[in-house]
Amino acid sequence: MKKRILPRKWMITALLLVAFLGGSMTAFGETSTDVKLEINGSLVASDVAPLIKNEYTLVPARAVFEALGGKVGWDAQSYIVTVSYDDTQVVLTIDSNIAQVNGENKTMQVPAEIIDDRTMIPVRFVGESLGFEIGWDDATRTVSVDSPAGEDQEEAPPVIYGSVNGISLQKGSSKSQNTIITITGDAPLTSGGDYEPLSLSEPDRFVVDFSGFTLGSSAAASQSFQHEDSAVSSVRANQMEEDVVRIVVDLKEATTPTVSLSSDKKTLTLTFRQLSTYFKPMDDGKLVVALDPGHGASTGGKRSPDGSLLEYEFNRAVAYKVRDLLQAQGVEVLMTVNGDEDTSLAERCEIANNSDADIFVSIHANAFGSGSEWTSPTGWEIYYYATSALGKQLAQSIHDATMPESGMKDRGIKTSNFYVIKNTVMPAVLIEHGFYTNEEEVELLKSDAWRSKMAQYDAQGIMDFFNAHM
Ligand SMILES: [Zn+2]
Repeated sequence: MKKRILPRKWMITALLLVAFLGGSMTAFGETSTDVKLEINGSLVASDVAPLIKNEYTLVPARAVFEALGGKVGWDAQSYIVTVSYDDTQVVLTIDSNIAQVNGENKTMQVPAEIIDDRTMIPVRFVGESLGFEIGWDDATRTVSVDSPAGEDQEEAPPVIYGSVNGISLQKGSSKSQNTIITITGDAPLTSGGDYEPLSLSEPDRFVVDFSGFTLGSSAAASQSFQHEDSAVSSVRANQMEEDVVRIVVDLKEATTPTVSLSSDKKTLTLTFRQLSTYFKPMDDGKLVVALDPGHGASTGGKRSPDGSLLEYEFNRAVAYKVRDLLQAQGVEVLMTVNGDEDTSLAERCEIANNSDADIFVSIHANAFGSGSEWTSPTGWEIYYYATSALGKQLAQSIHDATMPESGMKDRGIKTSNFYVIKNTVMPAVLIEHGFYTNEEEVELLKSDAWRSKMAQYDAQGIMDFFNAHM
């Protein structure tokens, strides 16, 4: 494929213009090329003249929009022209009538084209999308492009509402509030528009920009934070633009803080959870287990073929027994669901992730087949998320407490991408305590004595895991 390039230089080459007019006019059919171009009141010529195609004027992209202070990009692989000015970006694909203006699809009457090795774009569509004024003088056949009113004068100085005068780093006393960063301003931090938090990677960072602010001299430009259980390694502040202060939080892992603004809007607090790879469950003086009994009364399916057992009911009953056993050992228990409701998986994870839970244990029973007939599979199994070494240890521990004492068929320790074990930040497992689609095993699942026994194994495995990490 022939490589196309955009003109890199503003060239006033009368000779070329003449050659172009003379040589190419008839080849374009309904195209006329006797068009003049005026930019901010001055008549200009480029090496390729504007032309009118089906009543729409096409102009050379780089020559026109760079002269106006815009930026023009060209992707030769995908034939994409990008024109940006201020906060607006227009993306055009050669020979396509669909353009994107700040990501939104718009239809143009004529597409951008490559003519005589130059990228020609519809001036009215692109210009107006970028806020320029486009005019047409029929008598002189002149197309004019003007910067927005006032733009060709001196730019107005940026408005400064106040300064960011304090950035402090503090160690919290719990897993969910491990590291607290407080940013204070002498004016509401939202004065120049909403602050803009942003997660960046490679390396992992969390960034907040405050428009309309300067960095006060009392605010530290850089602070490092030396706590092995903190996700934060340092905080930096700089005057990114004349009127924008940027706060950068350097992170040891990708994590998002809870962001809160004080009622007077002068203080923004970023609260980071404990580093997920750090695991010393008694560090904050308490052991906390998030118990997640699966499903709810309204969950479709999830019942024995004869309808005598709903899975959620079994899950709840076992979870409450596990809760009582753990509480008797002095462990705090957080339930991700209450009553019969079917809380969404995302919400279950959020509840656990916003808590001080050390581990997450999801309690389920298994099913096989369509659910309308009894099937033969039986047995017990446990899942962890493949990349979690601690999740694997927790699974091993609960497995070993259950097997072989329970007499259940051992289906083993497995990995999976189940939502709740993937999206929780602490070591997490999901236990399948036997099959309610098996006619014999469902009778066990319905038995209160058997449920108590399974709960005891679960609780024992959890305590064994904690004891190994004290
Ligand atoms: Zn289930």
